[in-house]
Amino acid sequence: MSGKISMIINYTKLTYQMTSSYQRYKRRVEAMPRKLYCQECRGSGEHFEDRIAEHDLMSSCGWCQGTGLLTPWMRGQWLKEKRNDKLR
Ligand SMILES: [Zn+2]
Repeated sequence: MSGKISMIINYTKLTYQMTSSYQRYKRRVEAMPRKLYCQECRGSGEHFEDRIAEHDLMSSCGWCQGTGLLTPWMRGQWLKEKRNDKLR
């Protein structure tokens, strides 16, 4: 019984941590004097995944965490990744 309860608590804690890190990230990128739009999702915060039965399947962009904005460091990582893709 107690095991089940602690699992629920951990899940709540995890969800809270994910939300708060998203909020922190969002606040940080929005406070930047010069906005860097995420080129992976073109600033929309979402990725087009697939089209099934006339519905666009969208998933939140992992690069900008769904904010549509990147920190300069993240932009650097993105550029590095794109360069590696080309070399492969
Ligand atoms: Zn993005």
